[in-house]
Amino acid sequence: MRKKILAANWKMNLSYADAQAWLTEFKSGNGGMHEVEFRLYAPTLYLHDLAKSEVLSVGAQNVHPSVSGAFTGEVSIPQLTSVGASSVLIGHSERRLYFHETNAFLKDKVNACCQQDFSFIFCCGESLETRQSGEHLDFIKGQLEAAILHLDKAYLPLLTIAYEPIWAIGTGQTADTTQINEVHAYIRQLLEKQFGEEGSHVSILYGGSVTALNAQSIFACQDVDGGLIGGASLNAHTFIELAHCFK
Ligand code: PEP
Repeated sequence: MRKKILAANWKMNLSYADAQAWLTEFKSGNGGMHEVEFRLYAPTLYLHDLAKSEVLSVGAQNVHPSVSGAFTGEVSIPQLTSVGASSVLIGHSERRLYFHETNAFLKDKVNACCQQDFSFIFCCGESLETRQSGEHLDFIKGQLEAAILHLDKAYLPLLTIAYEPIWAIGTGQTADTTQINEVHAYIRQLLEKQFGEEGSHVSILYGGSVTALNAQSIFACQDVDGGLIGGASLNAHTFIELAHCFK
């Protein structure tokens, strides 16, 4: 049985006071949702306080592969662990695009997580141009080959994958369930081919303009094990509402 995961990606949004208010609202509203694992990817400087609340699992939106050193402005896995964060996003398209993170660098981050027993969500997904050219599956395969498929299967419990078509992130344009089913089944097939039975236990999330209006049909797709949620996670009530969209 794979884990159902609902992950909030706040990106660079919400003030400290907003974050505290979100937590209070989340605390009062998520009762009885034990079958869903909630994760919150918040700005790094809020992680300590959010983690202390022990209300949900807290993670970072970025990490540097080195353990320590002269990397001004960066944060390491031991530092994240020391404030109670338990996972990180790797390969989000905004990091690839705006911060020029290459496949090779992402592989270093993945390896660092594995070496330090730190969970991660690895994001993959194609641009609109790639989809329109019909090469989206090959593109996604390339992203996974570059940073994930080399792993020893002993590390798979640390891994969650998020399929996030770039053209659907923050645009209000969600991939339809045929498109989602195709890609998720393909990713599952790649994982099982490489890792065998263990590959079938990796959760694969969908991300890209998920809202309470479309979540039910997306979460009902066979190989969708949850969502990575941007805009709709900024309100705790809306975020919890999404958890009710799992069958
Ligand atoms: C994201 O931040 O990864 C994301 C999917 O954002 P949104 O839900 O706003 O499209």
